[in-house]
Amino acid sequence: MEKAPINWTNMILFSLTPLAAVTLVPLYGFLYGYDLYEWLVCILLMGFCGMSITAGYHRLFSHKTYKAHPILRLLFALGGACALQNDVLHWASDHRRHHRFVDNNERDPYSAGRGFWFSHMGWLLRNYESGREDFSNVKDLQKDPIVLWQHRHYLSLVILTNIGLPMLLGYLHGDIIAGLLLGGLLRLVLSLHATWLINSIAHIWGRQPYSDTSTARDNSLLAFITFGEGYHNYHHTFQWDYRNGIRWWQFDPTKWMIRLCSLVGLTRDLKRCTLAQIEKARLEMQYRLATEKCKLLNIPENWQQRLELEYEQFLHTLQLWTEHRQAWYEAREKQFQETLEQWDKLQLRDRYREIQYTLKVQKRRWQLMLRNLGDSAPLPA
Ligand SMILES: [Zn+2]
Ligand SMILES: [Zn+2]
Repeated sequence: MEKAPINWTNMILFSLTPLAAVTLVPLYGFLYGYDLYEWLVCILLMGFCGMSITAGYHRLFSHKTYKAHPILRLLFALGGACALQNDVLHWASDHRRHHRFVDNNERDPYSAGRGFWFSHMGWLLRNYESGREDFSNVKDLQKDPIVLWQHRHYLSLVILTNIGLPMLLGYLHGDIIAGLLLGGLLRLVLSLHATWLINSIAHIWGRQPYSDTSTARDNSLLAFITFGEGYHNYHHTFQWDYRNGIRWWQFDPTKWMIRLCSLVGLTRDLKRCTLAQIEKARLEMQYRLATEKCKLLNIPENWQQRLELEYEQFLHTLQLWTEHRQAWYEAREKQFQETLEQWDKLQLRDRYREIQYTLKVQKRRWQLMLRNLGDSAPLPA
């Protein structure tokens, strides 16, 4: 089969910049050295680019998981140009297709099915049919004046943020070249590859607790260098959630920033999945894997029946918990005057607490069951 034509702009840009970064940056450092200010410029600009991609291009523009003030949208547009990841329209259009046709080698622009190299950066180096420009899925974004403005002036913004800004920051400190090398070159290469790792590594290496219908995986190590985007299995399962790491201890600075911004009115309408939806997805996945294990290890029939029973009970409790929680939350908002009504309210609260306890016990029993399933000796075939 004939190979797709080479995209020379990308080929030159994405080959020369890393080459220059691994030679010029250490060479200049060896000859003249870098100081704390120059490293800080590099780190801060990396944060600016990274957050603009994760909170802006990804969770805001592509997935609409929350709404943002124009000031923030403008900052994201500038940071995205600085990250050199194309304009919002191209990025979001590609990304929406990635989610819709995930792993489909003909339609997913960076399909993991075509291997590590292709999904990491190979897809950018040639004009593949799967990456053909098609803005029909970003009509909503074409109504945003900031997105359109960035689209029209993308090249000027790239030059301004990638050359002008690091030069200015270097000039202010008395070393233009050091500013360009650390704040421009090194920052650019590192931030590009960090983003690309989400398309490559996060589709190859990690756990799949929520769904295995796509190759997307949760990888907490990756979250550390991608501003929290490593929880990619969760993200592909619940793409409308503004969080990627849902637990408080999971490293997701993008989520923290969006949440913090909501406190000062810069972001609003943050969407999140309910705990019941998340638990249900996880439970279904565990049940399926356990049934497969039963078949594979020839585990006795009564074990399988017990597993099914526990699973159904768990689902039922989860449903009850959702209902009771909703009833209690609604009642909590209301102010009751009469004692008898207040009594009803208390009853709702206690029922909710009871079912919450049942759910906790049920979950513990389920986990125990899954563990014991592995211990049971297989029957001779
Ligand atoms: Zn996404
Ligand atoms: Zn993905």
